[in-house]
Amino acid sequence: MEYKLIAPDTYKLIEPGPAGRVNMYLLLGKERALLIDSGYGKADLKSTVERLTNLPVILYNTHGHPDHALGSYAFDAYLRKEDEDIYLSATEPQYGIRRAAMKELPLGELDLGGRKVLVILTPGHTQGSICVLDPLAKMAFVGDTINPGEVWLGLQESTGVGQYLESLLTLQKACERLEIAYIQSGHSAKPMNMNKLANLIHLSRNILSGKTKGKAVNEGLCQGHRATYKYNCIIYRDL
Ligand SMILES: [Zn+2]
Repeated sequence: MEYKLIAPDTYKLIEPGPAGRVNMYLLLGKERALLIDSGYGKADLKSTVERLTNLPVILYNTHGHPDHALGSYAFDAYLRKEDEDIYLSATEPQYGIRRAAMKELPLGELDLGGRKVLVILTPGHTQGSICVLDPLAKMAFVGDTINPGEVWLGLQESTGVGQYLESLLTLQKACERLEIAYIQSGHSAKPMNMNKLANLIHLSRNILSGKTKGKAVNEGLCQGHRATYKYNCIIYRDL
């Protein structure tokens, strides 16, 4: 599996797959390591992680989608209960994927030993989406809450734009407080800066006020309206 060091004691792991590349992140503390997302479950994630650290590893899945959570079976795995059904339907016996005994993902501060991260709930893409903020690397790990191309709120399990905006504002406030400078997402090749977050807040407000009218779009699972602002795009079903 491809991986690279992106900050001290911070790795990005990349797995190719049917829905495109997916990024996972490994944060090393002094006492334990945090793995963020577990990918499609096809790659040698476990052995790659063991090559990078001897520490006990806990896995926090940013949300329940199969391209992010199917590798959970190999780890001490956590997911928000709001996304449990998504994970369970993606791991039904006919798919032949091992199912993890998923634990409820706690919010708030997590101490890895000499390195504290903050976990916040950011409903939008899914009801149980979370972001992990790490002041040491000055990075926010956001799963699919923010992606460089389209943000998908057009799924059955997505929230409306209003709730997504609240999540972005919560994220922005926490990022300012912790002096976070970079956004690392589930599918981006490069980190994004905080302008990306500000632009998505602007776009969400424009959608809600009616200033921006999305164009009808159907991308299969994701459908509704597609709205853009500069290079930012949100596909949404509901306001
Ligand atoms: Zn997703």
